[in-house]
Amino acid sequence: MSFDSLGLAQPLLRAVHEAGYQSPTPIQAQAIPAVLSGGDLLAGAQTGTGKTAGFTLPLLHQLASRPAPAAGRRAIRALILTPTRELAAQVEESVRTYGKYLPLKSMVMFGGVGMNPQIDTLRRGIDILVATPGRLLDHHQQGTLDLSQVEFFVLDEADRMLDMGFIHDIRRVLAILPAKKQSLLFSATFSDEIKALAERLLNAPKVIEVARRNATADTVAQKVHPVDRERKKELLAHLIQVHDWHQVLVFTRMKHGANRLVEFLDKQGITAMAIHGNKSQSARTRALADFKSGDLQVLVATDIAARGIDIDQLPHVVNFELPNVPEDYVHRIGRTGRAGAEGEAISLVCVDEEGFLASIEKLIKRPIPREVVAGYEPDPNARPEPIQLGRRVLHGGLGGGARGGSGSGRNGGQGGNQGQRQGGQGAAGGGHARMGAGGASPSRNPAPRRARGA
Ligand code: AMP
Repeated sequence: MSFDSLGLAQPLLRAVHEAGYQSPTPIQAQAIPAVLSGGDLLAGAQTGTGKTAGFTLPLLHQLASRPAPAAGRRAIRALILTPTRELAAQVEESVRTYGKYLPLKSMVMFGGVGMNPQIDTLRRGIDILVATPGRLLDHHQQGTLDLSQVEFFVLDEADRMLDMGFIHDIRRVLAILPAKKQSLLFSATFSDEIKALAERLLNAPKVIEVARRNATADTVAQKVHPVDRERKKELLAHLIQVHDWHQVLVFTRMKHGANRLVEFLDKQGITAMAIHGNKSQSARTRALADFKSGDLQVLVATDIAARGIDIDQLPHVVNFELPNVPEDYVHRIGRTGRAGAEGEAISLVCVDEEGFLASIEKLIKRPIPREVVAGYEPDPNARPEPIQLGRRVLHGGLGGGARGGSGSGRNGGQGGNQGQRQGGQGAAGGGHARMGAGGASPSRNPAPRRARGA
C-alpha cells in the first residue's frame, strides 16, 4: 500500500516522501481514512507504531481543506493533549515536519518554562496546539487561551495520562472544549477507565487496534544476562565497549541509580547523561538532542522520564534494572525496533529480580533467552535481597510481592505490586506526576491514582 492511495493532500504527501516513509504503517493505514471520514476514533496503538503520523496527517489535511472560522485571525482549531513534555515536543515536531508545506501554525505548550513567550505565541495566532494538561489549564485560568474554536481534539497516550494521575485535568480540559468536535483517543492499553473515558469523550467511534495489548514487537531481539547485582555496572560498560555500542538507552528504576550509573560510565570513558524529573527542562532537552545526534553514547532514563522519547531506529535498549511493573518492560523495549527497524533489548538481571522476570515473561507469554557473559557468571549461592523503591521495599525474588499484581494488567489489582509501585514513586519520583503539568497546584494534581492502594 502507498500513502498516495489514502486521499491525503499533495503538500502532505510531499512531506511524507521527504521524511523517507515508503508505505503507511498498519495504524496509519487504518487511522488516516477513519479520521478523514470525519468520525471519532478509539485507537489502540503504542509508541513506535507510527501513531503520531496516524493522527497528525489526516488532522492537517482536514484543517487545510476547511476555511478558518473567522477570516483574518487564526484560532486554535486542533488541540493535542499528551502526558509528558517530551512527547508534546515530539508530537509538535511531527506536526511541523508533516505540515511544512501547509500554511498552518503550531505551538507546543508545557510547564517548567516561562509563560510569557507562550502568551506571545498565542497572541500571534496558531492553528494547532500540542500541550500537557497542567500548563494548558494554567493558561486557561489566566484567560490567555481561547479554546472555543477547537474542531479536533486528540488525547495521546491516554493510559499514561491516567497512570500519571491526570484524570481530573483531562476532565477539566474536556469541560472547556466545544461540545461539537472530532475526537481521537490513542492508548496502548484499554483498561476499564480508558473505556469509561472513551465513552464520555467519543461519539460512536471507529475502534482500531494494531498491536495486541502487551505484545512485544517481533523485530526486537530480547536477551537476559544473569549477573550479580554488584557487577551490573561493570558488565554494562563491558558490553558497550566490546560491542562498540553507540546510542544505548539504559533504564534504571530510580533517579539516584541513574545518576550513579552515569558517574560510573563517565569514569570508564563512556559518555552518558541521565534524564529524569529532577533535571531542568533545558538539561533534558540538551541530553536528548545530544543523544539523538550521536554525540552522547548512553542515555540513562527512568520509566516516566523516558515516556514518549522518540528516537528513530534505536539499536539498543538495556534494562539495567528490571521494572517492577511488567507492562513497563513492554514500553521500555518499545523504544527499539521501531516501525520495522531491528533492535536489541538486553536485561541485566540479578537474583533479586527473578520474580520481576517471571512476571514479565508471563505477561509477554514467552521466555526470554538467558545468556551468561563469560567472566560475569553470577554466584550460584547468592541470596535475593529486597529491592528498595523510595521508602518502600519490594521483594522481587520468587515468591515475593512483585508477583502479586502481575498478570492482572496495569489497572487490575489494587494490591501488591500496583500500589507499591506508586508508593515508591511517591517517595523517589513524585515530581514526575507533575512533570507535564508545570507548576500546577497540588489541588489540581492530586497524588497519582494508585497511591491510594499503597
Ligand atoms: P510513533 O509511533 O508515532 O512514535 O512513531 C514511531 C517512529 O516511526 C517515528 O520515528 C516515525 O518517524 C517513524 N515512522 C512513522 N511512520 C512511518 C512510516 N510510514 N514508515 C517508516 N517510519 C515511520
